[in-house]
Amino acid sequence: MADQNELMELAKRRGFFFGSNGAYGGTAGFYTFGPEGASLKHNVEAAWRDQFTIRLGNDEIEAPTIMPEAVFEASGHLDGFDDMLVECAECGASHRADHLIEEALEEIEDAEALGIERVGELIEEHDLACPACGASLAGEPVEDFNLMFETSIGPGSGDPGYMRPETAQGIFVEFPRLKEYARGQLPFGVTQIGPAYRNEISPRRGIIRVREFTQAELEQFIDPEEDEPPLEEVEDVEVTLYPVTEQDADDGEYLETTIGEAVETAVIGSPWVAYYLGIAQQWYERVGVDMDRFRFRQHLSGERAHYADDCWDAESEIGGNWIEIAGFAYRGCYDLTKHAEYSGDRFTVFKRYDEPVTVETATVDPDMSALGPKFGGAAAEVAEALQERAKTDPEAFESDEVTLEIDGESYTVETEVANFAVEEQTESGEHITPHVVEPSFGVGRTVYTLLEHGYTEDELDDETRTYLSLAPEVAPTNVAVFPLVSNDDELLEVATDIAGSLRSAGISVSYDDSGSIGRRYRRQDEVGTPFCVTVDHEGLEGDAEPTVTLRERDSARQIRLPVAAVSEQLETLLAGERTFEELSEQYGDVETDLTTA
Ligand code: AMP
Repeated sequence: MADQNELMELAKRRGFFFGSNGAYGGTAGFYTFGPEGASLKHNVEAAWRDQFTIRLGNDEIEAPTIMPEAVFEASGHLDGFDDMLVECAECGASHRADHLIEEALEEIEDAEALGIERVGELIEEHDLACPACGASLAGEPVEDFNLMFETSIGPGSGDPGYMRPETAQGIFVEFPRLKEYARGQLPFGVTQIGPAYRNEISPRRGIIRVREFTQAELEQFIDPEEDEPPLEEVEDVEVTLYPVTEQDADDGEYLETTIGEAVETAVIGSPWVAYYLGIAQQWYERVGVDMDRFRFRQHLSGERAHYADDCWDAESEIGGNWIEIAGFAYRGCYDLTKHAEYSGDRFTVFKRYDEPVTVETATVDPDMSALGPKFGGAAAEVAEALQERAKTDPEAFESDEVTLEIDGESYTVETEVANFAVEEQTESGEHITPHVVEPSFGVGRTVYTLLEHGYTEDELDDETRTYLSLAPEVAPTNVAVFPLVSNDDELLEVATDIAGSLRSAGISVSYDDSGSIGRRYRRQDEVGTPFCVTVDHEGLEGDAEPTVTLRERDSARQIRLPVAAVSEQLETLLAGERTFEELSEQYGDVETDLTTA
């Protein structure tokens, strides 16, 4: 396991990520991805897009990151997107009150579920101290702190706006248009990769809890009565589950099962959520998460977001702690219903029946010339109440009189005056509000997991070597190309030609001719470059076909192959179509002292 400090040091030194705005003293909760990190992150995003947009046949959109207040009134974020804040009266430091409890009291795993008052009491009862200065926090108020960044739209005081706290809302608010692109047919899915903002009370642990981060989200819109996921595609996928029942038990254990079995035994309530857990398991494995340090944990009831029914998190183990790297929620019709209610726009789709159905509708056509003289100013209300009654209780019109209650007063109307009738109508379908299933991935946390799980130390040539065992698909650079020495024109020319032809083949290349070859290998090992090609004198000697060495990162083994074969063989290696082992059988390993040169 990587020592967290060493990993952070490597991340900074080699340009994966570092705290932003260092020249101005730094800004807590904001990180810049350097050249290696930005490349790794973009590759993770590309792999996500490949799986969740392209392979699943979904559509991707890109919405603005600032949205008006009305959106968050409707979504519930304005009222409910809070964390518990306690401030130290002595030094002014802000802390997540629930985290302080969880850290101090081992038996409490989910303090947020206890509520704000109880958390305040526990701080007092246990006389918890400020982690920054040590002063007592007992008696300090615990308050709800809304995590959204507020801004204003337009000059002057403008209209209030907020930086979106999740990319999802940018998809939901556009549903009335997005459904048209899907030709009104459920199920369909919309994805988005982009920044989300949360004014975290105490950002920490590098890029794990930050104030600006990238999410990759899929909103799957379904007809809850008809649409089923293609579970057969993932039913045999093996997963490690940590259901609520096991979390509650004293000797709770993980459940090693398959997606199919978990649905059959109802451990996972929603087949759609189960389907996406299966897809996610395969995707995490593909990008290089260590599956022995990965699990799906079900949310405890107090932890669930304000909109969610069944919820599971994908968690990875980092430095001995489990962190959430993705959330999978069955959001029901909550979001679309709310936006329909607040905006007045249509957040439904028209569901056509297999066959048109005939429905009977009870109506009234009250004779106002009779109601007017009898009820005076209340006549209009009586007419309205008759309409309502016809809909909800048509049998009432079988008697001679109908009695209505309006604001505590009774009004009796002769049935004749109501002109009650039952009309038959043929309907071809109905408007339904789709349900939403949401896999929501944190890109930064995935990147951190890959660095942590890939970080390896071994002994090579009597030295400790550090390398990042990153999957070729996500590694910042695919191949490094080196001329053995920098003062030989022939070596330089061949090396630059190889670098050029690899780049033309779409392979990302780092060309490096400075320093000892051993040091150059170490530099590439540290940033996770899977393969290095070295052009040396031996390969260009005599009239034989020119050759170069090809070195694999993790094993540090090398083979010698013709220059003419380099590009093609690397393409097959990077695509996973051949293994280095197979190449080594074809070309034979070379003993070389290059690593120590
Ligand atoms: P949530 O909407 O809270 O379930 O968040 C969805 C995903 O976004 C999580 O699984 C995390 O991977 C990521 N995420 C949430 N908050 C943060 C944060 N403050 N910093 C980095 N990533 C975050």
